[in-house]
Amino acid sequence: GWLEGSAVLVTGGASGLGRAIVERFVDEGARVVVFDRSKDKLDGIAADLKGAVRTVSGDVTSFADNVRACTVAEEEFGGLDTFVGNAGLWDFNRSLLDTPADALADGFDELFAVNVKGYLLGAKAAAPLLRRASGSIVFTLSNAAFYPGGGGPMYTAAKHAALGLVRQLAYELAPYTRVNAVAPGGLATDLRGPDAMGLADRSLTQELPINQILTEHSALRRAVRPQDAVGPYVLLASRESVITTGTVIDISTFGIPQRRPPAD
Ligand code: NAD
Repeated sequence: GWLEGSAVLVTGGASGLGRAIVERFVDEGARVVVFDRSKDKLDGIAADLKGAVRTVSGDVTSFADNVRACTVAEEEFGGLDTFVGNAGLWDFNRSLLDTPADALADGFDELFAVNVKGYLLGAKAAAPLLRRASGSIVFTLSNAAFYPGGGGPMYTAAKHAALGLVRQLAYELAPYTRVNAVAPGGLATDLRGPDAMGLADRSLTQELPINQILTEHSALRRAVRPQDAVGPYVLLASRESVITTGTVIDISTFGIPQRRPPAD
């Protein structure tokens, strides 16, 4: 495998894209700490993957919880080679004009706490272990890190902010620790939103016919399963990327203008 013997921590690793990353990393020979706030989903992945993973229940917005997850990697796997910051919330495309001001204010705090502060605190907790291992960070961004229309203003701003973390942390942690990211487009997952906006129990796949939208409107005209989006994470975490830092692999296809379907 590409990641034989490496120790990895994945935040939001119990569901959706994070879970697909964990499964693939295990297939590639890694041992993985799955850090998530959903106890049910953690139980699910622990039952399915058994010995290859350790689960940590906690909140990425807490520095102490991030440290606890890193400590599990150190104690169980002897260190940490890769930190994958991935846990996130979405704003369900709630627009500036249509969102009441109080929901905008409180939703912003909740979403930025997970999508931006969570990455910052995770990087802070992991940095000493990553330096020791000459390891790397991989963050999950989104088409919304580059383009409008992948969310409302708070999600788009949060993913742009996380792009800033990739660049600044690649600069600060060089030459010891690489920092890169992957920007997927839409994926059929259980992605949730801020409680303060009444979106904690809504799920992206409930809200949108995401597979139909992707099939009709993405450049490659296909629905993307989470497991189709994990190859770039393997590449960035592996030895093949030893001279790669500060980059984003944009697999969203949002940069490709819509082309008429071929007449056949
Ligand atoms: P998901 O909801 O299936 O998975 C996210 C996981 O993060 C869940 O298990 C959830 O419990 C966990 N989580 C949320 N808040 C947390 C917190 N405070 N502490 C600990 N864990 C927390 O959704 P997903 O689509 O797999 O999302 C993963 C990442 O992919 C996010 O960063 C999201 O922005 C990004 N992304 C998703 C899409 C998409 O269309 N689904 C597109 C581009 C980028």
